[in-house]
Amino acid sequence: VVVGVRMWRHSSEHMKWNGTGSTAHFQEIVLERCYNYTQLVQPELRDRDCQKIREAFRNAFISKDPCSATEEDYHPLMKLVNPTVPCDKTVFWSKTKELAHQYTKVQRELFTLEDTLLGYIADDLNWCGDTGSYEMNYQSCPHWKKDCSNNFVSVFWDLVSKRFAENACGVVQVVLNGSISNAFDRKSTFGRVEVHNLNPMKVHTLQAWVIHDLGKFPSDSCSGSSINDLKWIIMQRNIKFTCQDNYSSGKFLQCVKKPEDSSCR
Ligand code: NAD
Repeated sequence: VVVGVRMWRHSSEHMKWNGTGSTAHFQEIVLERCYNYTQLVQPELRDRDCQKIREAFRNAFISKDPCSATEEDYHPLMKLVNPTVPCDKTVFWSKTKELAHQYTKVQRELFTLEDTLLGYIADDLNWCGDTGSYEMNYQSCPHWKKDCSNNFVSVFWDLVSKRFAENACGVVQVVLNGSISNAFDRKSTFGRVEVHNLNPMKVHTLQAWVIHDLGKFPSDSCSGSSINDLKWIIMQRNIKFTCQDNYSSGKFLQCVKKPEDSSCR
């Protein structure tokens, strides 16, 4: 009976959050992605110390309350990796992750956040620890809506997104989704963080591409009210705004994946 009670307590303690737990083999994946990126993808970064990067990443959240993350927790990690994207090469996205990544995969000189070292390392991973434990919690982590917004994953993405935007220069692009009702969403990371951290002294134009899914009825476009919101925010920040519906490169990428679609003929 005693054993049963202890096992029950043990598992309930670990399932305390509503989000998925840390990604299995988190440490190994971080290290492997770091080596892959610094040795093969961007060999200019070959001198970065991946062991140190992994350690700083882990130290940011291990043994800490997973709902009390702050930017400061990540400062040692940020110090090891500064973003370096050339002018005119930054691509933001919102609700268009797959398409934006296909785009920068083909146009190799363009960069989304996930084409920079920290974004590349952390993309699609989940991580959290627990107060008073040196282990990661693989059972559950705080869900950003259901548990707390200041969890370590959200604070990480807000911080790296902010730095990515602050460092952009020249013309910057954003790929938006014209198949949802608000292609621009003020509450998204792009609308809440990136737009407000572009430096008008460095960024002269934001180019928006509103892409509709093949075969789906367009729900929003450059002339819609959400894009108008974006245009206002950008122009008030003294940055020029341009917008194009169904940018042909975006269409082309979609057609490569789905050549049988009638709109591709
Ligand atoms: P989006 O709404 O498509 O969200 C992108 C992803 O981040 C989704 O999986 C979403 O569930 C998650 N997300 C959004 N806000 C979150 C939060 N507060 N906490 C935890 N997860 C959250 O698009 P978006 O919000 O505009 O973010 C995309 C932009 O911000 C990109 O330009 C990129 O530079 C950056 N970003 C990337 C990621 C990523 O997972 N690679 C996450 C957040 C932000």
